[in-house]
Amino acid sequence: LRAQVRARGGDRQPAGRDSVQRNIEYMFGIVGIPVTEIAIAAQAVGIKYVGMRNEQAACYAASAVGYLTGRPGVCLVVSGPGFLHALGGIANATINCWPLIVIGGSSDRNQETMGAFQEFPQAVRTSMYGRPGSCYIDIPGDFVNLQVNKSSVKYVECCLPPPISMAEHSAVSKAASVIALSKQPLLIVGKGAAYSHAENNIRKLVELCGLPFLPTPMAKGVVPDNHPNCVAAARSMALQHADVIILLGARLNWILHFGLPPRYRQDVKVIQIDICAEELGNNVMPAATLLGDINAVTQQELALQKSLPMNYYTVFHHIRELIPKDCILVSEGANTMDIGRTMLPNFYPRQRLDAGTFGTMGVGLGFAIAAAMVARDRTPGRRVICIEGDSAFGFSGMELETICRYNLPILIIVVNNNGIYTGLDANSWEEMLKFGDPATCVPPVSLLPNAHYEKIMSAFGGKGYFVKTPEELQNALKASVSDKQTPSLINVMIDPQSERKKQEFPWLTRSNL
Ligand code: ADP
Ligand code: MG
Repeated sequence: LRAQVRARGGDRQPAGRDSVQRNIEYMFGIVGIPVTEIAIAAQAVGIKYVGMRNEQAACYAASAVGYLTGRPGVCLVVSGPGFLHALGGIANATINCWPLIVIGGSSDRNQETMGAFQEFPQAVRTSMYGRPGSCYIDIPGDFVNLQVNKSSVKYVECCLPPPISMAEHSAVSKAASVIALSKQPLLIVGKGAAYSHAENNIRKLVELCGLPFLPTPMAKGVVPDNHPNCVAAARSMALQHADVIILLGARLNWILHFGLPPRYRQDVKVIQIDICAEELGNNVMPAATLLGDINAVTQQELALQKSLPMNYYTVFHHIRELIPKDCILVSEGANTMDIGRTMLPNFYPRQRLDAGTFGTMGVGLGFAIAAAMVARDRTPGRRVICIEGDSAFGFSGMELETICRYNLPILIIVVNNNGIYTGLDANSWEEMLKFGDPATCVPPVSLLPNAHYEKIMSAFGGKGYFVKTPEELQNALKASVSDKQTPSLINVMIDPQSERKKQEFPWLTRSNL
């Protein structure tokens, strides 16, 4: 090391080959014989050295750097008491799954047998790859002060960032179906999720599936605490009533009451996502285990969810995100109106028109036409958005001609489940027809599957969109909200069996009101 320092003229260098290639930026410690030169050498190659007052605090600091940056922090200690003091930090990092390298100096090699300095890059890898944790390097004293020729210094290549592992496809689809069948799902976000930088994908998953979520203490902020789906305020209630729990980088240890009753339902189904195989199945028998990097696995789950038919919650989530706050909302239908009441907020008075006291279906288009006429005269530019179930739309669908004749820029969204309350998908419809005349064998609640209501709108010169995926829905919403001249209709196909979620989660109603 001295040779290295000398070879470089002892100059302080900007984070040079060593530190940059190994991406080690910070060292915390307390120097003494024989490690003082190590701190000097570290500084010489651009590593920031912070001298602390106790090795324990130094070790905590180095491990937190590992958590925050994803590259291990280094803790430098002397042998004996220095190392002993660091043990608290080592244990803490190991249990927290945070990458950490502890470098200690021991007596010379002729006094004991120790590993070689060239093990350094392996140590970096060991601390970061797989489940992150701490590792220890002991540098013999005579090694620190060894004189070597510059030409004999070997530089070892930096290890690559941890390889990204993905879960088995069958496990991903198993998890998707368990989530789809859940009545009261709960996503638990742990610090592993924070460490893997999975925030964007987790947020998307929360919103796409309408999942309530609970952060563990250090996972707070992965999805912001003020997100409407955050149930932290009702933690015990959420844990107790969830029928499916998705564990994203959190262990079922004491912090989560071991996943056992009475804090959880006896029959709770747990979907576990973790990078450490040994963690899977700890304390509970999981319904699905996804072994892999949280960010990558969440993305796999997202891709799968996106290809599934949408449900009411997904549709209303996107509508809520993309419509103007001051629009006039007209709504009718059974599930469409009921779920829309909790999912679509109003911010101003007299801007909500629905089936009313009489529970009348077929009022929507008339109401929307009136609202658009009044808005045109009194509050120009204010949009009217009419959200209809497919059955409700049928009662007055021909008013689309009126809307186009008067060129009223109303946006009509038909939430289409092929039926009244629930419907049949095209395949089941075909199956039913095999039994004979539709009048005798098709359930009275079903309407024609995949009816293209948007074509009625385009027939009259307005814009029609047929959408099946969240992405298509977002694009159609953006296009029709920004077009303030033309009437439009978005026909949104959802899962014909999609239903209202049980309302026993108080936050589902409370937070969305
Ligand atoms: P909390 O204290 O927030 O509940 P834990 O420390 O119990 O979190 O759990 C963190 C989990 O995250 C560990 O089981 C660890 O193996 C896992 N983990 C760490 N990094 C990743 C990653 N990149 N991908 C998947 N799992 C990870
Ligand atoms: Mg319907």
